[in-house]
This record gives sequence, structure tokens and C-alpha cells, in this order.
Amino acid sequence: MACVSYPYQAPVSQSLFDRAAVVTPGGVNSPVRAFGAVGGTPRFMVSGSGPYLTDADGRDYVDLVCSWGPMILGHAHPAVTEAAQAALARGTSFGTPGEGEVELAEEITARVAPVEQVRLVSSGTEATMSAIRLARGFTGRAKVVKFAGCYHGHVDALLAAAGSGVATFALPDTPGVTGAQAGDTLVLPYNDLDAVRAAFAAHPDQIACVITEASPGNMGVVPPADGFNAGLKELCAEHGALYVSDEVMTGFRVSRAGWFGLDGVVPDLMTFGKVMGGGFPAAAFGGRADVMAALAPAGPVYQAGTLSGNPVATAAGIAQLRHLDDAAYARLDETAALLRGMVTEALAKEGVAHQVQRAGNMFSVFFTDELVTDYARAKTQDTFRYTAFFHAMLSAGVYLPPSAFESWFVSTAHDERALARVADALPAAARAAAQAVAA
Ligand code: PLP
Repeated sequence: MACVSYPYQAPVSQSLFDRAAVVTPGGVNSPVRAFGAVGGTPRFMVSGSGPYLTDADGRDYVDLVCSWGPMILGHAHPAVTEAAQAALARGTSFGTPGEGEVELAEEITARVAPVEQVRLVSSGTEATMSAIRLARGFTGRAKVVKFAGCYHGHVDALLAAAGSGVATFALPDTPGVTGAQAGDTLVLPYNDLDAVRAAFAAHPDQIACVITEASPGNMGVVPPADGFNAGLKELCAEHGALYVSDEVMTGFRVSRAGWFGLDGVVPDLMTFGKVMGGGFPAAAFGGRADVMAALAPAGPVYQAGTLSGNPVATAAGIAQLRHLDDAAYARLDETAALLRGMVTEALAKEGVAHQVQRAGNMFSVFFTDELVTDYARAKTQDTFRYTAFFHAMLSAGVYLPPSAFESWFVSTAHDERALARVADALPAAARAAAQAVAA
């Protein structure tokens, strides 16, 4: 890690972090939040409004994390909070079917044509875990292909060479995942169709599915090469395996129909989360009706959840999705393009080698001079430069992902004033990145 000075201390956050560390492992409920990769005090946030977050020390930040994707309309959007409050007043959970679940499912199937049927769950992890089980149950096969650097939640079988926090903390493997649990997972390099061909050849009639992030955002943003997703689909079809597209991050974010709306490759199964819950725990998996028919109670593959289709979460999710029209996506694209331009200009001016890579309105900055097309390449970036850059931005009131291996996220609430603050912060951050030295 770089030697970085932390120009602004956060005493209240620090004391909360100290308290948290006593009762919670590492002081956080999700690893990347601990600032382990960048050092310093994780900011404990107390409120959010539009593009801003306010921390326990009373400082506000332009938020370019947006709760890792969900807050696409900004924080405390009135339509979302009003829908959630109205649902809350009617009761928080019934453990029965409810109309909100039907409406949310109808909204999803209307937006994403390959999803003929959908099952609601509470987290992206649950969605991918269930999709994998369904793929195995449907095909009667055991093996799963995943790609290095892709993160699909903390599902045992999918943690091998995963992105996100696993990449941030450079964990090779996770203790607690047994050989048996990971033994049927084949991990291949991303963007390498020859490796997929070879895997199908080496394991005939054994591969249940290929799961991929529709466009990876968990090793930083590394979009699929032209024809990669289409090639996966074709190989799966040829070999009787299912093509599972994980759109937990890209779904309803990069277009009305997520990444599918941009590349048009039709998956057999898809997974969703983040945006569709409006900031509440809601996620989903869905796809071909004949595959989904294998799911209990229609079929034999078991899957269930006490809080699945929760009425408050579904109300918030529906309200959020209904606000995401073409104008909203155009605005998100425009905001992301402005930010990318600003970051590129600032870093170029300081002569810092970098790549700003994008997938629709998601983007991230790699401190390297070569295009990043897979996880091996992503790992060679100068992360110490990101650390310096991150802290300079933080001290100027801009909250970036506390890891070089994560996407940045914008919302429709990011306005001129918020972007002006980012613009003001960038020159010093670029200088900090240029001057950073590896420890
Ligand atoms: N899949 C992808 C592509 C993700 O980005 C994530 C989380 O970041 C997940 C699955 C897991 O979702 P969750 O954190 O809601 O369990």
C-alpha cells in the first residue's frame, strides 16, 4: 500500500468503527466497507439526499458509489421513500403472496424479454445460488463454468477467483469452502472463448451452465469483447448447457433491460438485484419458462425464502423501476460520460498512465497503460496510485469506491453542482496519483 496522508480525520466515524470492531468482525458487515484496501477511517454515514451522503462527523460527500449500484435515482428519492412508507404502514411482512410481487415480476418480464418467468429473492447471492441449483437440477449435470474476476456473491461454489471484495483483499481462495463445494467449478480466464471450448471438450455432457457477469464490474469495469457473450451462448446451446447471465449489477442500470438491452444476447437464465430493490433487499432470478418450471412448487428443484417478495421492498423496487424511463437512462449516460471525460483530462494532465473503462453508464479507472480485458491484467494495475487518488477525492468531499477493483456508479440526481465538486477535486487527486509511490 502507498504511504498516504489522510488530510481529514473523522473522529466520530473512528469511534464508531472502534465500537463496531468489538462486536462485529472487522467492524463491518461487508468487507470492502472497512477501507482495508485504501487505509484510513471508513466513513459511517448517517443520511443521504440526492447525490450526497453525510457522515457521522457532519461532512457531506458527492456519492459515486450509490450503495454499490442500487441508488440509481439518488438517495431518499421521494417516489421511492413514499412508496416504501405507504407499504410500511400496511404491514412489513405477511408470509403470503401479495400483489406487489406480481407487479414487480410483471415489470421485470416486460422489460427483459428473455425473462418469461421470475422468482423473487432477497439478495444477489441468493439469486445466483438459486440459478446455479436450478441449472444443475434442470440439466442433471454438476459442473459450472465461471470466469476469474467475476463476482456472483458469496455462493460457496462461485467464490473461486472471484472479483469484488475477494479481489480487493487479494484472497486466492476462501477457507470454509470445501474441495467438494468448489470441485465442480471450472474457473476460466475472462474474454477467452477458446478456454470455454476446451472446457466443454474436456468435460463432455458434464457442464450444467456457464455463468458470467453480463458485463463485469467486480474486477473494475471490464466489458466483454465483441462476440464474447454471443459465443458463450452458442457454445452452451451446442453442448446442452445453460447460459446464465448475472445482471445483479448491470440489470436496470445500463439500460431499461440492463446489459441484455445493449447486446441482445438471449440468456437461458438471468439474475438481478441492486436497482430492482430501490435500496431494499430484493433480488430475482428468471428466464426460460421451461427451465423455471423445474422450480418448486411447479417442479422438483427446491428454493424458498421467508422474506422473499417482501411488500416494502417490492413497493420501493416498483417505484424505482417506474421512474427509470428512457430520459433517465439518457441522463445517466450523459453524467457518466461527463465524469469519464473529467477524470481522463485530469489524469492525462498529470501524465498518469490510466484507462477509464466503461460498460454503459458504469465505469472505473485502472492505473495502467494497457487496456484491461481480464482479471490477470486488472491485477497488474498500480493500486497504490488509486489509494492516493481515493484519499485526495475523499478529503475534497467525493466518495469513490474504497477499492480499485470496483465500478463507480452515478445517479439521475447527480447534477451540475455535484459534478462541479468532482471537477474541483480532480486536479489535486490526479497530482496525488502521479506522486504516489509504492510502499
Ligand atoms: N452478482 C453480481 C454481478 C454482483 O455485483 C453482486 C454484488 O455486488 C452479487 C452478485 C451479489 O449480490 P448481493 O451482494 O446482493 O448478495
